[in-house]
Amino acid sequence: MNLFPYKPRKNQKVIIQTIKNSLESKKDIVFESGTGSGKTICALASTLEFALQNNKKIIYTTRTNAQQRQVILELRQIRNKNKDNNEKIFGIGIQGRANMCILAKNDLELSKGTSEELSKFCSNEKKKAKSSNKDKEKGCIYYRNFIDKEKVEFVKDWVKKELPTAEEFIEFCEKRQICPYEINRALMRESSLVVVPYIYVFDQMIRNMLFDSLAVPEEDMILIIDEAHNLPDYLRELHSIELSMYMLNSCSFEAEKYGNPSMVDGRFSVSDFCKILSEILRDIRDTYVYYHDLKLLVKPFMT
Ligand code: SF4
Repeated sequence: MNLFPYKPRKNQKVIIQTIKNSLESKKDIVFESGTGSGKTICALASTLEFALQNNKKIIYTTRTNAQQRQVILELRQIRNKNKDNNEKIFGIGIQGRANMCILAKNDLELSKGTSEELSKFCSNEKKKAKSSNKDKEKGCIYYRNFIDKEKVEFVKDWVKKELPTAEEFIEFCEKRQICPYEINRALMRESSLVVVPYIYVFDQMIRNMLFDSLAVPEEDMILIIDEAHNLPDYLRELHSIELSMYMLNSCSFEAEKYGNPSMVDGRFSVSDFCKILSEILRDIRDTYVYYHDLKLLVKPFMT
């Protein structure tokens, strides 16, 4: 089986063979190559070939949706050139609920919510939809249609045939009024390849959900990290928590406006707590931030 869909250049042959050797010897590989050298297609074709022959699944992580789209377009090329393995060559692009929820997409207020808020909203809508009946329809209409097996099978067949990008898939589902997020989750089990944003692998909770949906043991997964040089910055940002003076001031202001509830068995109020934290932050600033050494012209705004 040779899935590479183009006439390979000399350097591409070397890259493909090196990746295959690493997969066969179960070793990790890092490779760096210039723009336009065909990194995506080399990584995808060689890994997919190995995955199909050895019953593995590929998790391909990308930093941006544009990169995800590129992977799916290359997958289509692979399938077009390998008609014999048409059905086996199947993968999907996955995006978070914030992008895939059609209710949120069409509701300005909802689309501004955090992922936790959206998740709670969605599970509430799903509960209502499940208890709905023909006389009294309740909950998210896109989920009500997802409960209908025939409609789900129709969309799944279309996806398997067309290999859509996430954007094309969302558009198709919106026209048929069915939830793309739920269908994608259902399709994960049947895919040899899932193309996901970094967060699906580097956030533990989301990773657990992804691994459950893929339904294969970890040793049968192959992980590809696109543009891996972004990882240090990405991970630092992902696992950092920010607490600014602005946030504390806003919290204190809101607490006072809405009755300033007490905390710790009535020992202090929310606004007192914010003031204590503000003082700690000020002390940390005065101890560790040296304006003159850093040659800052304007002091950071702290009140
Ligand atoms: S079921 Fe789908 S469309 Fe409905 S709220 Fe949840 S994610 Fe959004």
